[in-house]
Amino acid sequence: MTSTHETTAPADLDPANPFAAPSALPYGLPDFSVIREEHYEPAILAGMAAHRAEVEAIATNPEPVTVENTLVALERSGQLLGRAARAYFNQLPSDSTPGLEDIQERLAPLFSAHRDAINMDARLHERVRALADAAEAGDLDLEPDTAYLVEKLMTQFKRSGIALSPGDQDTLRELNARITSLEASFGRKLLAGANEASVLVTDEAELAGLSADARAGARAAAAARGQDGWLLEMQLFTHQNVLASLQDAATRERVQSASMARGATGGENDTREVLLELARLRAHHAQLLGYEHHAAYTVADATAGTTAAVNEMLGRLAPAAVANARREAADLARVGGGSPSDGVAAADWSFLNEAVRKERFNLDDAALRPYLELERVLHDGVFKAAGLLFGLSFVERPDLPGYHPDVRVFEVFDAVEPGEPGTGLGLFLADLYTRESKRGGAWMDSLVVQSTLLGEQPVVVNNLNIVKPPADEPTLLVWDEVTTLFHEFGHALHGLLSDVRYPSQSGTAVPRDFVEYPSQVNEMWSWEPQILRSFAVHHVTGEPMPAEWVDTMLASRIWGEGFSTTEYLAAALLDQAWHQLTPDQVPTSVEDVLPFEAAALAAAGVDFASVPPRYRSTYFNHIFGGGYSAGYYSYIWSEVLDADTVQWYAENGGLTRENGEAFRRKLLARGGSQDPLVSFADLRGRAAEITPLLERRGLV
Ligand SMILES: [Zn+2]
Repeated sequence: MTSTHETTAPADLDPANPFAAPSALPYGLPDFSVIREEHYEPAILAGMAAHRAEVEAIATNPEPVTVENTLVALERSGQLLGRAARAYFNQLPSDSTPGLEDIQERLAPLFSAHRDAINMDARLHERVRALADAAEAGDLDLEPDTAYLVEKLMTQFKRSGIALSPGDQDTLRELNARITSLEASFGRKLLAGANEASVLVTDEAELAGLSADARAGARAAAAARGQDGWLLEMQLFTHQNVLASLQDAATRERVQSASMARGATGGENDTREVLLELARLRAHHAQLLGYEHHAAYTVADATAGTTAAVNEMLGRLAPAAVANARREAADLARVGGGSPSDGVAAADWSFLNEAVRKERFNLDDAALRPYLELERVLHDGVFKAAGLLFGLSFVERPDLPGYHPDVRVFEVFDAVEPGEPGTGLGLFLADLYTRESKRGGAWMDSLVVQSTLLGEQPVVVNNLNIVKPPADEPTLLVWDEVTTLFHEFGHALHGLLSDVRYPSQSGTAVPRDFVEYPSQVNEMWSWEPQILRSFAVHHVTGEPMPAEWVDTMLASRIWGEGFSTTEYLAAALLDQAWHQLTPDQVPTSVEDVLPFEAAALAAAGVDFASVPPRYRSTYFNHIFGGGYSAGYYSYIWSEVLDADTVQWYAENGGLTRENGEAFRRKLLARGGSQDPLVSFADLRGRAAEITPLLERRGLV
């Protein structure tokens, strides 16, 4: 069986539902001109039922186990569910409605039960294990991508607890349920605690330095709560943005103290008890599955592999970062009129830092913006770099429908030579403007994932939150938005240039400590002189951006890295410290939480009071509210690979078609079809080294 086949949709799905059959549009783009909100739920439910039936047929197949009747069959299964769910989960954050939110509420438990049913299917486990054993014994020759698929599936089964006794499986289920509910409780307390921590200012003189906009916002926030004055609300991280502009030292100190006290104030919104129980239960959960602690459980499925590797990387960065932060502190103390040995209070850091930035790097966003016009940045920057590196070209297809009028669809052509049209590779959807129905931030998503097994070519989406200008006015960007555009397009390229057999290994289907790496690498082209000169052109006069501005921008990149690296590392180390405990090592009293934190920071050498962690334990939502527990290190892990790759490009002549081809074939195209660090070593000729990152951040 080598041809793509599609099991027909179950009888209870209306054949008129646009998801009932594969889309007839180019590249399988979902036909958003006919898809309505009410189509999602029935298609997803029918998709789950169809997928269950397909999996049941695989599990009960009486024939001897083969790669074809087990692995390939699993990879072919769930296509209806896949196309409906991908379209739904793309639209939910990007153009949400109360109806779509309700569907999410109803379907979330069904999705998790659906995944569990497959991961906990003992018959599937047996079949995959039979293949693993046969390969191990030398009786079966697996191709490399298939061997890697088997390895990943076996890890997945182990982590699901399939090998446990029924009693232990019950315990595991109870632990999972309790952990999920504690995470939700942490998030709720944090939100309520942040409101409680807001700083009310009643004398406007205390707000000196704050912009008119920010004051108006603070005024409105106070009014919304029926208070008189100005309310400074808390952002999630320690170092509140208002600290950079508030001239009154006493107000800064109030804001800083309120921020750092969150979650440890006693009363209802205190998070210490919850986080202790979470740390203990996660450790218990990990031990039940055969891992020493939660961090070991988490990294076993990441490219880092072991906590020793994570500790080593963080341990090598920390002293360099703190030494640099101490140098910055001495600099700032001088600016503040003191002697370098006076040090800087954490509350004053941003304010003094801003003064230095203005004096040394006098760059004004408003002056830069006319040189950063969206169409030019997109076509003469982002697309141009992809053309020079990978031989791609982009043609807008206004005839193809997006899921919102702002969405633009581009057809991507490959192997484009001068005078040649190239061959169709996939579609790139750009949804760049902010709107009420879109959540904040920027991200990449896939509507169709590349797979030679299914004969599918990729359809990827980039979402940004650029403010839309009035009609007929050009969209002018700030530099951060330019970087974000290149970054997200790096994820898009990972999806577009994927060249794998199995859909589950396609493009960005890599561990989270690797997935940010290709996108971070793509940011480098925004700084590349040939590309920068091409897009940074005044949108009215056509003049290039003045060269001295470019130099200043380059010079300003390293300033402040001591602070930002230290505050990040301190948080990453706290995450590891909590999650490298065995159940009986977790402190039992809420009184021990802050001393544990202080001891962990001291042990790692990042106990520098001027630069507190980006998040303290008591308001570290990434790790205790869900999602990123024991994984906060991932950002810098990816950046080590990124900086080393930037150096590889530099050593080999930079922006050339040859280098792009190597990066594409050895790295992007491989997706999750082999250990991503093997792809990296294949490209680099060796394992990653940390020095390029230290140099980039000015830490050597
Ligand atoms: Zn990213």
